[in-house]
Amino acid sequence: MLPFSYVRPAHVAAAVAAHTQDGEPRYLAGGQSLLPALKLRLAQPSLLIDVARLPELSALRREGERLVVGAAVTHSALAACPHIPALAQLAGSIGDLQVRNMGSLGGALANADPASDHAAALLGLGAEIRTDRRVIAADDFFLGMFETALEPGELIIEIAFPLPNRAAYAKVRNPASGYPVVGIFVAEAADGIRVAVTGAASSPYRLSEFEMALAGDFSAAALEGLSVPAEDLNRDLHATHEYRAALIPVLAKRALNCGRKP
Ligand SMILES: Cc1cc2nc3c(=O)[nH]c(=O)nc-3n(C[C@H](O)[C@H](O)[C@H](O)COP(=O)(O)OP(=O)(O)OC[C@H]3O[C@@H](n4cnc5c(N)ncnc54)[C@H](O)[C@@H]3O)c2cc1C
Repeated sequence: MLPFSYVRPAHVAAAVAAHTQDGEPRYLAGGQSLLPALKLRLAQPSLLIDVARLPELSALRREGERLVVGAAVTHSALAACPHIPALAQLAGSIGDLQVRNMGSLGGALANADPASDHAAALLGLGAEIRTDRRVIAADDFFLGMFETALEPGELIIEIAFPLPNRAAYAKVRNPASGYPVVGIFVAEAADGIRVAVTGAASSPYRLSEFEMALAGDFSAAALEGLSVPAEDLNRDLHATHEYRAALIPVLAKRALNCGRKP
């Protein structure tokens, strides 16, 4: 790890101002992705701006038909939140207790790991991301592997999840890390049927063919006979692209068979 400076600002405006300094400033939340990158020298920031305790990033409240979650809310806190059971179950499936107690929703989304669990919930529920400067729709957020629509220095403040009618998440987890080999979030969401996939490709995505099939019949039976092509899917030491393709309909049906009303 190379030397760097560290600040813990008291409010959002000070954090964003600190990010305009010369060099390579980076926000730090739970450190569960950034600190390993520092240790491996994959990231070499000049300044870490600790946003984990900013009061404006700590919301966890129901606002009418939406659940508003601050960017600094940990996976553990979300796992204990009753308003969207599928989201709580997803958060509780991340990593291990230490990772869940430190890692945050905002950090996970900004990091945009292609196998991020939260990415599936963001897309699967049609959430909105509020930053220090605008609101970004979930469908516009992920641009590629570890790449998002966030501009340099843009800070995620909170995420608003519309409460779904029904939703469920199913994943096959890597036994070592907990990351999904494939994860599928299925929802009868506020704006229609949503099926989101994580872990299978370079970036999380929605499966429009499955969504259309479920529009008339929100049940596992509606997916009978549907499959996905394997060519563009990830292949690595954990799974082949054919295996991931085979998992997608299996996990979608598994999620549909346990979808619960919030
Ligand atoms: C052993 C292990 C197992 C894991 N298993 C899983 C798993 O099963 N599933 C899964 O999905 N993830 C898993 N993770 C990743 C975990 O979810 C991390 O918590 C998450 O990726 C990053 O969150 P963080 O709060 O630690 O962010 P940090 O590591 O602090 O930051 C990550 C990135 O986000 C940026 N950032 C942080 N907060 C903000 C903000 N508010 N606005 C803008 N940018 C911000 C940082 O600058 C950095 O670039 C695992 C990690 C570890 C170490």
